Amino acid sequence: MIINKKRKRRKSRQRTRIYELIRDCLEHPTAQWVYDRLRQEFHTVSMGNVYRNIKILIEDGLIRSCEFDDGLVHYDATITTHYHFICRQCDSITDISLPVQHEIIKTAQKKTNNIIENHTIQFFGICEKCNKISKKKKPV
Ligand SMILES: [Zn+2]
Ligand SMILES: [Zn+2]
Repeated sequence: MIINKKRKRRKSRQRTRIYELIRDCLEHPTAQWVYDRLRQEFHTVSMGNVYRNIKILIEDGLIRSCEFDDGLVHYDATITTHYHFICRQCDSITDISLPVQHEIIKTAQKKTNNIIENHTIQFFGICEKCNKISKKKKPV
């Protein structure tokens, strides 16, 4: 007898919506952000629901959590290695589409006896939006 080890989950409308919200938000939302949006559609949803569903989405490999300097946990529906840009003015976190830097992994691996499984690169600065605003504010 073949035992199906994969736990079957009941599809949940809320969970599907949470996934869509995270996927469609390009700025790596927090649980609070997801909750605020979701509550407009599901009036009875609780923060606990949101956390539970997010945990399942992570377990299922649909999203991942990432921590940035603001100390908050953010969620990302892009689960492959990619890089981030963080604006120091508006704190927005956006993806930077760059080829994965395999050389860095190789170099880091060569220099240590550690097994490198993953890496991340974060760029910091002023985003396009904030840059435009500050340019407008400056007197000519
Ligand atoms: Zn900005
Ligand atoms: Zn990302």
